[in-house]
Amino acid sequence: MFEQFKPVPTDPILGLMAEFKADTNPNKVDLSVGVYKDEHGDTPVMKAVKKAEKLRLENEKSKAYLGLAGNTEYNDLMADLIFGDIEPLKQGRIKTAQTPGGTGSLRVAAEFIKRANTDATIWVTGPTWANHFSIFHAAGLETKEFPYFDFETMGLKFDEMVATLKTVPAGDVVLFHACCHNPSGLDLNIEQWQVVADLAKNQGFTVLLDSAYQGFGSGLDEDAAGLRLLASQLDELLVCASCSKNFGLYRDRVGAFSVMGKDADSASVAYTNALSVIRAIYSMPPAHGADVVARILGNKELKAEWIAELDEKRARINGLRTFIVEKFKEHNVPGDFGFIAEQNGMFSFLGIDKTAIQRLKDEYSIYIVGSSRINVAGVNQDNADYLAKALAEVLK
Ligand code: PMP
Repeated sequence: MFEQFKPVPTDPILGLMAEFKADTNPNKVDLSVGVYKDEHGDTPVMKAVKKAEKLRLENEKSKAYLGLAGNTEYNDLMADLIFGDIEPLKQGRIKTAQTPGGTGSLRVAAEFIKRANTDATIWVTGPTWANHFSIFHAAGLETKEFPYFDFETMGLKFDEMVATLKTVPAGDVVLFHACCHNPSGLDLNIEQWQVVADLAKNQGFTVLLDSAYQGFGSGLDEDAAGLRLLASQLDELLVCASCSKNFGLYRDRVGAFSVMGKDADSASVAYTNALSVIRAIYSMPPAHGADVVARILGNKELKAEWIAELDEKRARINGLRTFIVEKFKEHNVPGDFGFIAEQNGMFSFLGIDKTAIQRLKDEYSIYIVGSSRINVAGVNQDNADYLAKALAEVLK
């Protein structure tokens, strides 16, 4: 039967990663893959994680099955981290299940939505994280884009967004990034989140929030402000969270899927459906990473240490954003890149064309994905001048 197959092209970002690895230029710069890097270009294990892993190794008593929802202590602690002290959480209207990463959570969400409404369309920001399309299509759901990022102004297409969302019917799902929009770095402000809440109420569509970078924008609570506003005002909400970035647990696959219902009973019924979806995909999530997160969030000292490390990462990224704009000015890179300093999280678009991106790779070993999205954290004191000079050359 395998003769039916046609080769599937490599994911462009993973392809670039391989090319970067093979590149022997000592000045090479990787601004492609979405992994946090420190000043030395490394992605070390967080200290709080190392300590929690040690505790886990010493204290783990069994490897027996945990259950479909995974680690329930983790689920409660994650719900607190994501939702804070909002009423629906206290009222038992929010139920959370551990999932294998944010991707696993989104895949569960996709199957869950398909069960609730086979004909649901998933509306995603134009543009969005490319894997959103694959995930929802894999569940047999249709996707449509709504206007979001404006490549002309490097700002938000707010009016066009609202106009399109006014056409979205009840039964459809609108997916927003809770913070640190990937790929643009452009987030809604609180007034704009309120407009989204009102649209959801009026139109009756369901909002799904992808929260993959909580703590990377302005702070753990600040980054959840829009999410909490929606959760406080709407009857139903879906949230897919990831601990890949904020705990640096990328390869350990830690995430969470939360369903919020109009009351505790409907949330419980919805949750049993999420669990039965999980049963048919991977049965149970892996234990290690979620146990580590639970040990951190459940321990005052470890939690404080983790928050301090996360604050440091965020401060580095935000400092880099201003630094990059200054360096571009210093080296006379044509154009106004001030928007980079205004945006959030690890990503921004440079807004340069494919020829410039290709030349950066071929002539300077600077790796940027085809959309011109850069991982801000890939810039450091050593490579910033090289990057700015190269960019000034290719944009001349
Ligand atoms: N959503 C968005 C917007 C992301 O950028 C990512 C990571 N690139 C994820 C979800 C999923 O992350 P993971 O599966 O690694 O937890």
